[in-house]
Amino acid sequence: MEVKAGLGLIGEELEVKRKLCITIGKDGIIESIGGYNECKNYLGGEGLIVIPQPANSHVHSGDNSFPEYGISEGLHELVAYPNGLKHRLFKTLPYQKIVSGIREFYITSYLMGMGLLIDFREGGGVGCLASKEASRGLEDKLKIVTLGRPGPNFPENCDGLGISAPLDYDPDMLKVLIKQQRYSQTHVAEDMENRRKRDLELAIELGFDTLVHGTYLEEQDIVKISDKGVNLVFCPSSNLWHGLRFPPIDLAIKQGITFALGTDNAAWSLPDIYREANIALLYLRSKGLRSDEIAKILLRALFINGYKIVDMTPSTISEGNKAKLLLIDGENSGILRSLNTYSAILKRSQFGFIRYRIDGADVLDVKITKDLNLH
Ligand SMILES: [Zn+2]
Repeated sequence: MEVKAGLGLIGEELEVKRKLCITIGKDGIIESIGGYNECKNYLGGEGLIVIPQPANSHVHSGDNSFPEYGISEGLHELVAYPNGLKHRLFKTLPYQKIVSGIREFYITSYLMGMGLLIDFREGGGVGCLASKEASRGLEDKLKIVTLGRPGPNFPENCDGLGISAPLDYDPDMLKVLIKQQRYSQTHVAEDMENRRKRDLELAIELGFDTLVHGTYLEEQDIVKISDKGVNLVFCPSSNLWHGLRFPPIDLAIKQGITFALGTDNAAWSLPDIYREANIALLYLRSKGLRSDEIAKILLRALFINGYKIVDMTPSTISEGNKAKLLLIDGENSGILRSLNTYSAILKRSQFGFIRYRIDGADVLDVKITKDLNLH
């Protein structure tokens, strides 16, 4: 298969290249990246741009069954275990309803072009099983890393540990689980209360590999996290939705620290990681960080860092990689005419402009969802 595009982000450096022809073998591997003259019988065209599939590095798929519930409530009333609204609602839902809600979230993520989701599942190993059942037929297309928390049958069917806060569990038990599990992630400093209780220090001491939120971290905290080689994931729109402050992404950039981004709870956010990056971009501009380079840092969070935090090879457009591509309408979005390509891709690669999604040798025309071809 050949893919023609007027512009693309190529390789792990996300280099901007124009007038491309990408040849994909029958095995779905990118064989060559050349110029237009190599394209004979192709998909796409001069008006399209080609980009990798982004990672959405923190979601809770389970609450997709109750979108926009409890919009007047605060964070603790909504999600605190065991009496928060979310957990009370989970108890009222039959298992199969939870599975179908998760599946809808995964399909939405697939249609929105995501290449990877890191999913925090509630309900122990049973919650992880619901994720595995919900992802049937999607496995080769949308990679889902399912992180569970202690509960019934944990850690069966879980790819690792993902918890609400290190303060919520017995630290000795956590220490053992972290050693046993391939991945270990926790929310940290999401609100002032947990930060005051020194949840960051506990998380670092216990040895978690990835910290999510970091909303109330200070600059020295971020440096400490980086020195320990721990990953950071920011979820700005979730923090704003819950009336908290904006996470310190500017300080992470100032310190040269890599980070990933996530949309957090499906109940209050679509898995639209471009929108999330746009919100981050607006905040960074308000802090005086204004350049195409800032947009590139945010694109790296989506295309590169999100994959690396779970030890996966980023799905960059490189010879020898499996084709994991999105073809975006570069004309109606204005991207092809822009002088600041990274900013244009970040701000304008919206769902409505995605034309095709390519996973290996599989092509999805995003406008014709009857061709979903999921088994
Ligand atoms: Zn979360």
